[in-house]
Amino acid sequence: MKYISTLLTVVFLMLVTGSGNVQARSTFITIGTGGITGVYYPTGGAISKMVNRKKKEYGIRATVESTGGSVFNINALMAGDLEFGVVQSDRQYQAKEGIADWQDRGPQKDLRSVFSLYLEPVTLVAASDAGIKSIADLKGKRVNIGNPGSGHRQNAIDALEAAGINYEKDLTALSFKASEAAGLLQDRRIDAFFYTVGHPSSSIKEATSGARKVVFADITGIDALLADHPYYMKATVPIKLYPGVLNKKDAQTFGVKATFVTSAKVPDDVVYAITKEVFDNFEDFKTLHPAFTSLSKEGMLKGLSAPIHPGAMKYFKEAGLL
Ligand code: GLU
Repeated sequence: MKYISTLLTVVFLMLVTGSGNVQARSTFITIGTGGITGVYYPTGGAISKMVNRKKKEYGIRATVESTGGSVFNINALMAGDLEFGVVQSDRQYQAKEGIADWQDRGPQKDLRSVFSLYLEPVTLVAASDAGIKSIADLKGKRVNIGNPGSGHRQNAIDALEAAGINYEKDLTALSFKASEAAGLLQDRRIDAFFYTVGHPSSSIKEATSGARKVVFADITGIDALLADHPYYMKATVPIKLYPGVLNKKDAQTFGVKATFVTSAKVPDDVVYAITKEVFDNFEDFKTLHPAFTSLSKEGMLKGLSAPIHPGAMKYFKEAGLL
């Protein structure tokens, strides 16, 4: 008798809460992003918000994880530890080709692109009292180039090399996470830092609103770099978003695009649902972060080098975008 009443209670609770149903249909996905003061983290939040609104329809529950950045995200995605990631377009290209950080591991054949997002200028933030106006002034300085899992570390190395500066010999290169860089600059523990990031970002706001005055230094002498690397493009760092910065003009630099990627192992219906929610509710999506203001649907299909995931492709064809 006791057994039967327990059983009835369980069945009753499952009916009331619908838990039996939801359990069977829920797909949990995690989006790898970057430091919480970057733009990847709120971007992951915005994308998950779009799809979580339709939890009942799709059975997808998306969560966001703060990570070390692009390189970490691609590796975690390929290892099956993440289902999606925000990564720099140059890193997407390198992983697909099996070059740079993927030289030893070879081409990452399961990497798939979903869409691209906003431009990320390689931003060089420098203390004005350190006398740094352009990248050439970094010789002998303490410069944060980024943690090894970040996308920007290689951009910093490429920019320094283009300026004839050996990052191992000509300056003190540090490997802190971008989320720590603004604090270190304000504490006078570093003179400058590189961060490839969309604007505005909380990290750059923090760096430009402290007692120590800062400038965005120009990254010049990059014509050959741009000619040799198809994924790099000219860019500027906008000063209007950061009232505390000392520059009178936007800084000259180069940049990449932030892109949204996944693995061939992630089911088509999951990738389709996310793509559809972002694109069908595009005006809503654009309000979720100021870095999204100038996004266009057509632009979001550019800058992708890994094959487009079939789930995303299905949506793009239906919507007449491809
Ligand atoms: N571009 C940086 C990276 O790939 C992250 C920027 C951000 O978190 O917004 O590591």
